[in-house]
Amino acid sequence: MDRRLILKLIASGGALTAVPSSAWAQAYGKEPQRATHHPTPGSKGSLPLSTEESLMAEIEDLRAATQARRKHYCHLDQPKWPDGVKMAVNFTVDVDTVLSRRANDEPPMQLAKGEFGGRVGSWRMLELFERHGVVGTFFTPGRTVDLYPTVLREIVDQGHELADHMWEHYVPSDPVAARDHMLRTRDALTDVAGRPPVGTRSNFSQDLVLEMGYIYNSHGFSAPLPNMMMSGGRELLNLPVHLAIDDAMYFNFGWLGSGPAAQRLSEQETVLDIWWQAFLQQYKAGGYLNIALHPFLVGHAARIAMLDELINRMKSLPGVWFASSAEVANHCLALPNQAFVCTEE
Ligand SMILES: [Zn+2]
Repeated sequence: MDRRLILKLIASGGALTAVPSSAWAQAYGKEPQRATHHPTPGSKGSLPLSTEESLMAEIEDLRAATQARRKHYCHLDQPKWPDGVKMAVNFTVDVDTVLSRRANDEPPMQLAKGEFGGRVGSWRMLELFERHGVVGTFFTPGRTVDLYPTVLREIVDQGHELADHMWEHYVPSDPVAARDHMLRTRDALTDVAGRPPVGTRSNFSQDLVLEMGYIYNSHGFSAPLPNMMMSGGRELLNLPVHLAIDDAMYFNFGWLGSGPAAQRLSEQETVLDIWWQAFLQQYKAGGYLNIALHPFLVGHAARIAMLDELINRMKSLPGVWFASSAEVANHCLALPNQAFVCTEE
């Protein structure tokens, strides 16, 4: 991008200074807070305007941060899946129900959307997966055990994996509270599944995730294939998602007054085409596809039909492994260290 344009954008409070996508925060957890007003640059309470010097200093900081982390992301070169497997498809379902809506302090009508996920969407997804013999992972806030215990027991009975997705769909900033949330969720999911969860989808600290005994996170998207994240000299496997393969990016219809106010109503045929092309690309490469879904979004009938068609197409090709995140993680962690390559930048 033209440097003058960058400066112009920053001076106008434009895209380059924007906070990360609010939709992402909604999908993957953030402490609840009311929607805030963003002051115009130069007004009382706003950040000072960036100058060319401060921009150059920021770029230097980013360059230094990139260098410091360059050995911290080591991803699989080639997955070397089990015999007969060409690629792994990992359906990951976030059972957010009303909790994500409440964390965003949304009004009752919006909470009902989450309720649809717990009462209807989750059951439809289970029926779909059972019909196709597909196993997936259901990332579940611990509080969901109090709200929708029956569907969670059915998820376990059908052989799917239950994994951590925070306690009430946000990560407390206080480390003591954060640890308490992780412990509560681990206990709640253990009660339902009869065994402790082994993974999470959250932005809890890596130390805390490892302390819980979890072997993976499925959160970041800094690599195309499963990758090792380093923190304090300790490794944790990440099973990467991608926003283009996340139903929230196409179907999330937010309340205008909330933080994630994105109004998205995509045609399911368009989403089917994008996801099918992504699958084919990974199939040819022998790779991995993590498909992130939310029952309150994709659980609507026409969208379930879209998923049905997608799975039918995938099953028409040989060597597709429909695996849970735990299965993918266990496979990757059993590979020799040389299977992972570390990028230079
Ligand atoms: Zn979520």
